[in-house]
Amino acid sequence: MKDTVIPSYRGNMFLSGNSPGEPIVTINKTSLDYIKEFAKQDTSKERGGVLVGTIEKLNKTFKVAVLGAIEGKFTDASSVSLKFTHKTWNYIHEVKDQEYPTLKIVGWFHTHPGLGVFLSHHDLFIHQNFFNEPWQVALVVDPLHDNKVGLFYWEKNSIIEAGTKKEQGISGGEEYVGTRGSKMNSIKAPVSPYLLRAFLLGFLTCALLLLGFQVCLMKWEKNKSAQPSSQSREIEKRTTITGLKQFFKTLRERKDNIKPTREHNKEER
Ligand SMILES: [Zn+2]
Repeated sequence: MKDTVIPSYRGNMFLSGNSPGEPIVTINKTSLDYIKEFAKQDTSKERGGVLVGTIEKLNKTFKVAVLGAIEGKFTDASSVSLKFTHKTWNYIHEVKDQEYPTLKIVGWFHTHPGLGVFLSHHDLFIHQNFFNEPWQVALVVDPLHDNKVGLFYWEKNSIIEAGTKKEQGISGGEEYVGTRGSKMNSIKAPVSPYLLRAFLLGFLTCALLLLGFQVCLMKWEKNKSAQPSSQSREIEKRTTITGLKQFFKTLRERKDNIKPTREHNKEER
């Protein structure tokens, strides 16, 4: 492929890593020259592609070596935006598999003719959706401002401009370059959704258990008042026995009373 860059180690340049906490990102001269030349070829619209290279994990950050660049053909581009189409991705993967089978896509590059170096709302969307590995970077070149180059990298959930510590963000739908921790909060989740879900689930379970307990208690109370207590049943039983005893006693007494009367009558006759 004529429009790709063959890896070469003749003079690697640092794109970031000069400030503490930054990943160390280098680019070989061949790739950088190619990107600058590519940017100058057409300044009527934005142009771009992907960066390929190697990644090494350092203590808490990464060491990324950009060893090649692949043009993003078939992009949907205007003077202020760039879109990677399905055809663009197919082309990129085809070239990568043929020319750089052992390298990884370590990021992307694009031009900002006359606009300066920053990441727009749309650029942030691309970076967050297609280059969201912690070691993937974005390179921006402005061919109308002395080929000024800027590099952007991930720091946790934030996208930072190398050398400036400036966080890239969006405010009210307009593009702007913010400072760290000021206006990018909307991109980070303030409370873990898992924590919130667990809390709600716990609360609902407690409420249901309480409701069930209340219903059981009400049913039990109702049954208790409907059935006579064992004490009242005992009294009832005793009353019945006493009543029966009294009845038989009365019967016996009457029998006794009747007998002598008859005899008395006999005597009278
Ligand atoms: Zn852009």
